[in-house]
Amino acid sequence: MIVLDREKPYKLQVLESLLRRLSVTEHEYPKFQKMYFQLRKGYIGELRSDREWNEIRMPEEHYLLFNYETENELGNINQIDTIMLSRYFVFILEVKNISGRIDFDDEKRQFTNLKDDNTIEVYTNPEDQVERHIRTIERIMRILNIHLPIVGAIVFSNTSTIIGQKPKRIPAFHLSGLNSHVNYLFNKYSNEVVTFEELTILKDYLLEILKRDNWKPNIDKNKLIKGAICEKCSNQSFMKYHFGRFVCDNCSVLSKDVLLESLLDYRLLFSPWISNNEFKEYFSISSAKTSYKLIKSLNLNFKGNNRSRIYYIPDNILSYKLK
Ligand SMILES: [Zn+2]
Repeated sequence: MIVLDREKPYKLQVLESLLRRLSVTEHEYPKFQKMYFQLRKGYIGELRSDREWNEIRMPEEHYLLFNYETENELGNINQIDTIMLSRYFVFILEVKNISGRIDFDDEKRQFTNLKDDNTIEVYTNPEDQVERHIRTIERIMRILNIHLPIVGAIVFSNTSTIIGQKPKRIPAFHLSGLNSHVNYLFNKYSNEVVTFEELTILKDYLLEILKRDNWKPNIDKNKLIKGAICEKCSNQSFMKYHFGRFVCDNCSVLSKDVLLESLLDYRLLFSPWISNNEFKEYFSISSAKTSYKLIKSLNLNFKGNNRSRIYYIPDNILSYKLK
């Protein structure tokens, strides 16, 4: 039973907004673009691995948590791709979507990727990642006085990955091997260590201490393009508010929804709170009255009165209905 669904990672959402609003000519653009592509690739691989769980015959009493995040004892966010809880053992899965050849060097704790274009990239060793996650879950179980065995594995979600030198400490294999590996684990750990009630306590506690990463890009906010941006034009053209709609300066396309998309960008890049004045400036609306009418029409929650009033942009702003 899935108790935590995989959502698009917050950092990926921020990067999407950032790339929409950073001019391609800025020197930081390629850095953020690379980050974006890497993260998106990882996310696609994780979605692929989530589907694989449908094919696995599991005991009725189990819980699956996808993209679990919590704070470790040092105050950093630990992000675990997949956790499976059962009455027999806990299983932690690290998913890698990498093309080319990969090699683990246990002595040097090095993880290298020879890419298709013959360049070599070095990444954080997934074995160290899995072991860190195991320690985190062990620490949490100690608090609850629950002592299930914990095992981990690394899967490669890209069928073209060539696994060269294998890791010695943690099993690593292609995604197609997940099914038989989980079966093997259920055979190996066949004793019920905890009751279903204890298992549920562990699941509830993990969900209670879930804490999402609140990543902020290191960039001068003045560099970001404000307001509504045309999606049809490739050159980040400005859209002007005109009688209930936004009109592109360049191609004259009309849009209403761009209001919500731009507010989501505002939330992700600037703040979830916005005053009428900030709203007016952001969208370059010349009339304070027009700006006020528009922000009021969204029926956003707010705090403060009159001039000090600020409105809250919720994370589901895209689902709002525009009049
Ligand atoms: Zn346009």
